[in-house]
Amino acid sequence: VRGERRQAILDKPPRVGAKKVAADNRKQHFDEIYRPLAECDAEYESERCLYCAQKAWCNWTCPLHNAIPDFIRLVKEGNIIEAAELCHQSSSLPEICGRVCPQDRLCEGACTLKNEGGSVAIGNLERYITDTALAMGWRPTISEMTPRKERVAVIGAGPAGLGCADILARAGVHVDVYDRHPEIGGLLTFGIPPFKLDKHLLAVRREIFSGMGIHFHLNQEVGRDLAFNDLVENYDAVFLGVGTYGLMAAGLEGEDAPGVIQALPFLIASTREVMGLEVSAEYPLTEIKGKRVVVLGGGDTAMDCLRTAVRRGAASVTCAYRRDEMSMPGSKKEVINAREEGVNFEFNVQPQRIQRNRKGQVSAVGMIRTKMGEPGPDGRRRPQPVAGSEFELQADVLIMAFGFQPHDTPWLRGYGIKRDRWGNIATGGKGRGTTQTGHEKIFAGGDVVTGADLVVTAMVAGRQAATEMLTLFRQQEGL
Ligand code: FAD
Ligand code: SF4
Repeated sequence: VRGERRQAILDKPPRVGAKKVAADNRKQHFDEIYRPLAECDAEYESERCLYCAQKAWCNWTCPLHNAIPDFIRLVKEGNIIEAAELCHQSSSLPEICGRVCPQDRLCEGACTLKNEGGSVAIGNLERYITDTALAMGWRPTISEMTPRKERVAVIGAGPAGLGCADILARAGVHVDVYDRHPEIGGLLTFGIPPFKLDKHLLAVRREIFSGMGIHFHLNQEVGRDLAFNDLVENYDAVFLGVGTYGLMAAGLEGEDAPGVIQALPFLIASTREVMGLEVSAEYPLTEIKGKRVVVLGGGDTAMDCLRTAVRRGAASVTCAYRRDEMSMPGSKKEVINAREEGVNFEFNVQPQRIQRNRKGQVSAVGMIRTKMGEPGPDGRRRPQPVAGSEFELQADVLIMAFGFQPHDTPWLRGYGIKRDRWGNIATGGKGRGTTQTGHEKIFAGGDVVTGADLVVTAMVAGRQAATEMLTLFRQQEGL
């Protein structure tokens, strides 16, 4: 019967994913570019699924191990509320994962139908289920929870901190979440641009989490507005989900020239303006209109900068990447989107120095062409400069998007918290693979432990930390 069903699916037209707003239109604003999946398309996609029983690869490759075939089946049966409830059993932010997870590398990349009509549109369905259920007035509730006596402080309201707070609140623990920003979400709010993720979703999530009893203390920076030691002393456990915010310098001559800016402050300033928040001295808004913008880097952050510059009215926007297109580390989907929006790509080029004009501002980047050489220790082929191929790329604004490294947290010193060789927080205090640090009460997860990674992996770590804290509390109770 399964073979017949499979053949019937293969005979159908291919995958119907969410439609995009046309590039000429979407370049004019910061609204999300993907439209919600239409009800008929959600039904169609749910009917294409094979509901692979024993080895659903989508479920295995999802870092949260979402019950994908089961929630897709519920869509087919028209049971959206039950599907939303199922999504929330394994994920704290399904509508957000549905939008920003690189599904082509995770669940959809492993779907049995990938080469047979196209993977089921899992991300679009996840978004469809949660958006529809929330619009119907459904809210995740924890009405049957028994309050516990323990109190936990979560530092950082990014996906790691929110994942941790979600599980703890559901178990009846009192949770206080502290964040230095005026809204929850971490990089979901102040990093990922609004055309990938509508910021209103985080405001809705704050309302939902607050309704579950989670206490948010925003505009509160630990180490500045409140002492870390007070948290360690006054709570039963502390979770560190503070992300990784150290900026990477390229080490180029002229890097300090006005007009040379870093990716993340540029994106934060842009998003703050879109959200109607006041422009702060920490995140000044760089004028882009009519300028020639060059972005150095080829990852997702670079794509976000390029597409933000397009929307801010740049005269031209160019991505300069030192390897070839095949070697780009980010999502292929985002490269396609950037290209559609008019971004130029210069592959196999390496910056050598930054040129200034008479006023001392950046005017061009001195480049050299590269060819792909032998693989380095990380397995990736290394770019090698081609002698005599130097040229200049004109630029009025140069954005450095080389990634992130751990930022300084002097307030964490003196607690026995170790760092790995990259400077990330080392965990494994309770055993390999655990989230406890060298201090029994202090747990950590997300980018601060793994280095810059993904929303979903940060959420997994936060949820894991909460589970480990609960085990610790139960053990202490039994003593
Ligand atoms: P964060 O999201 O960084 O949250 C940490 C929080 O801690 C922040 O809110 C910060 O304000 C707070 N904090 C830090 N120090 C303190 C302190 N002392 N006191 C109080 N609060 C503090 N991933 C994807 O899966 N898909 C994408 O499309 C994607 N796009 C990205 C685009 C950009 C531009 C960037 C930079 C990253 C992107 N990522 C993407 C990666 C993803 O956003 C991160 O991996 C994820 O947000 C990490 O979660 P986190 O909770 O560990 O840290
Ligand atoms: Fe199988 Fe793909 Fe459906 Fe997952 S989404 S159950 S892999 S057909």
